[in-house]
This record gives sequence, structure tokens and C-alpha cells, in this order.
Amino acid sequence: MTGHAAVHADHEAGMRLALAEADRALEHDDVPIGAVVVRWADGAVIGAAHNERELREDPTAHAEVLALRAAAAAGGSWRVLEATLYVTLEPCAMCAGAIVLARIPRVVFGCTDPKAGAAGSVLDVLDVPQLNHRPEVVGGVLAPECSEQLRAFFRVRRSAARGGGAAAG
Ligand SMILES: [Zn+2]
Repeated sequence: MTGHAAVHADHEAGMRLALAEADRALEHDDVPIGAVVVRWADGAVIGAAHNERELREDPTAHAEVLALRAAAAAGGSWRVLEATLYVTLEPCAMCAGAIVLARIPRVVFGCTDPKAGAAGSVLDVLDVPQLNHRPEVVGGVLAPECSEQLRAFFRVRRSAARGGGAAAG
């Protein structure tokens, strides 16, 4: 196996952890987005979180922010170094900003977000030469699985909304 293939296999393993984390958001009817932070030294997960915006009624409770907070707490520093953040959906502007602030060196995301993505789709906060940190970014890892997880969530929501409308009418 080439070095590149080995790294890609690692990325998929990390993304599967993020997908499992995203599933937990369904327990409280939040959009299923998951993130994990994996330490390079030993492969340990030092931060894992899912979207809790509805649960907390907090517009900033995105998976990446919560996972970075956990990783910083675990490492005893606001700098999250020598670790990779895996997230199922391209980070938004806020999360990309948090990624830059945390100095995390590598970000791997699943599907792109054409409406709000800030890793190249709408903005590219992770690749601004004037900022003092630019992580390595790998997109599209397990993208079909990541986008299907989101599509399934919204499919169920839409059919529930239609059912509710019919009942009310
Ligand atoms: Zn976000």
C-alpha cells in the first residue's frame, strides 16, 4: 500500500467515527452533523460531538465547535495541535473561524455545503493567506454517506410536515 492510500484509509476510519457521532443528533431532532478530533500520537479521540443547536437552543452549538472545546479541555490548552478534525459536512464560517483559532493542523470533511460552506464552497476561511493559520484541508471523504445521512433526515422531516399539514386540513 502506498503512503497516500494508507492516509486515505485513516481518513475514512475517522469519518466513520464522525458519522456515528452525527447519528446521535437524531436523538434530539437536530440536523445530523458530527465531528471528532483524533490525536496523531496514538489515534485517540480527544473530542467528539454532534450538532446540538436545537437541544441547547444555541445558534453556536455546532459539532465542530463543541468537539474543539472538548479537545482543548482534554489537552489542557486552547491550541489543538498534532490532531485532525473530522466533520461530516463542510464547516460553516463560524466553525472555520474556530478551526483557525484552535490552530488545528488538519481538517477532513465529508460532503460540501453549497449554501454555507466556508472551506471553499461559499467562502474559504481555511485558506486566507492573511490569517496566521491555514490548516491542511481534505474534502469529500465518504461524501456519499455523509450527504445521504443529511438527505434522509430532511426527507423524514418533509414527509412529517406534509402529514401534519394534511391532518390539520
Ligand atoms: Zn458550523
